[in-house]
Amino acid sequence: MSEPRHRPRAAVCGLLAAALLALPTGGCGNDTGSGPPGYASDGFDGGRAFADLRAQVGLGPRPAGSAASRRLTADLARELRRAGVRDVRIQRPLRNVVGTIPGRGDGYVVLGAHHDTVRGIPGFAGANDGASGVAAVLELARALPNPMPGPSVAIALFDGEEALPGRDFDASGLRGSRQYLDYARTGRRGSPPIERIEAMVLLDMVGDCDLSVPREENSDEGLFAEFAAADPGLFDGRTGGIDDDHTPFLEAGIPAVDLIDFTYGPGASPGDWWHTSDDDLGKVCPGSLDRIGGAVLEALPGIGERPSPE
Ligand SMILES: [Zn+2]
Repeated sequence: MSEPRHRPRAAVCGLLAAALLALPTGGCGNDTGSGPPGYASDGFDGGRAFADLRAQVGLGPRPAGSAASRRLTADLARELRRAGVRDVRIQRPLRNVVGTIPGRGDGYVVLGAHHDTVRGIPGFAGANDGASGVAAVLELARALPNPMPGPSVAIALFDGEEALPGRDFDASGLRGSRQYLDYARTGRRGSPPIERIEAMVLLDMVGDCDLSVPREENSDEGLFAEFAAADPGLFDGRTGGIDDDHTPFLEAGIPAVDLIDFTYGPGASPGDWWHTSDDDLGKVCPGSLDRIGGAVLEALPGIGERPSPE
């Protein structure tokens, strides 16, 4: 694990940028909050998020259990701490990186994404699947109020979302999120107690330059409404149910939403670029991270808040 040889002098640029690329000064992505293209007006800096996306891709394939995964998860933990997230730790055996933004209200809202990449596809670096979701969550960790006005936010960067080689997704995917909830059932190892989880928000494949987010069938409609109120044009159409890291939460009776654009490249969903070496930096855009991140930044403080007694 290499520490950055040079620390950016300006605001934190994402460890990923700082530690992996060892940027000598404050330059970070294509946006630092001033000047074009200007992605930081609401506090969520799409350019800074994109620098984190790019640095993950720079590590190459990051499947569960790999050396690249160990390096990545250490870097993610360090960056969450730098953002002011509390109680950051890396769960085992699957390396979910977890932490808490404390809230003044009751309960927790889990904000998740998966950091592992699918195994066994030569040249696969997962710019969209999963670096984009992780990049958005990291930037949200920096941009959200701390403390939160309502429930605490439990950050969960999941390992092991992708299936094992040669095995069904049903049988071997979602291992990290299932482990997270197993620990939540006993309130251990950095997962909040399951009975105190009010809602779960998942970001996956949110970097597509041609971002179009449908309402996923299994997701909670009330949660979609919160994000639609924040950005009325965000959702476009509907899609059938998708199994993703929100599924174990739904199975546990927790309202959950999957913000996912599961049409990536030409062709029908999931699109020709999904799980191919075409999932690269040329297909993802800071503006897409900015769009989804801005909506979550605005909506999240109102999620899970119980009406106050009259
Ligand atoms: Zn995948």
